[in-house]
Amino acid sequence: DPRIAGISSAIRVIPDFPKPGIMFQDITTLLLDTKAFRDTIDLFVERYKDKNISVVAGIEARGFIFGPPIALAIGAKFVPMRKPKKLPGEVISEEYSLEYGKDVMEMHVGAVQAGERALIVDDLVATGGTLSAAIRLLGTSLLEYQSVKSGFVICMVEQMESNVME
Ligand code: 5GP
Repeated sequence: DPRIAGISSAIRVIPDFPKPGIMFQDITTLLLDTKAFRDTIDLFVERYKDKNISVVAGIEARGFIFGPPIALAIGAKFVPMRKPKKLPGEVISEEYSLEYGKDVMEMHVGAVQAGERALIVDDLVATGGTLSAAIRLLGTSLLEYQSVKSGFVICMVEQMESNVME
């Protein structure tokens, strides 16, 4: 797709952030470029609009930027997957490993129902640890809290050529 080159070049690469050796992919410059930002959303909407997706699950924090416009355009609800102690209602949690140490991701109980198809949105996949936690959280939310045996959530994971978003 010819739009991918424009999207890719709108992402600024900052060496040694947040620590030496990391080539940080900074999507804030993509957000300043109205064409590249729109193209990014459009690509996802075109790909997922007829896939019977009813939930867009956005991973804090950059999944909160790209998730909602995709959700609105495909007619899905938006579910935030948050850092601990941010959500006010009853939550389920999933622990996951970071390069150094651990983190926890939370979502509200009842936000997703059995049999729903979810699209998980974040800006970048490195080790896949964050994405895996989101997939487990969606599965756990059904198995533990909805008592559903046959229900499942399909997580559609596709990596764009430019490594821009998931
Ligand atoms: P993973 O769990 O796959 O190792 O790391 C992915 C998570 O770290 C994502 O939530 C992503 O936002 C963040 N992340 C890691 N490296 C970068 C980067 O270079 N740029 C941006 N924007 N996010 C990153």
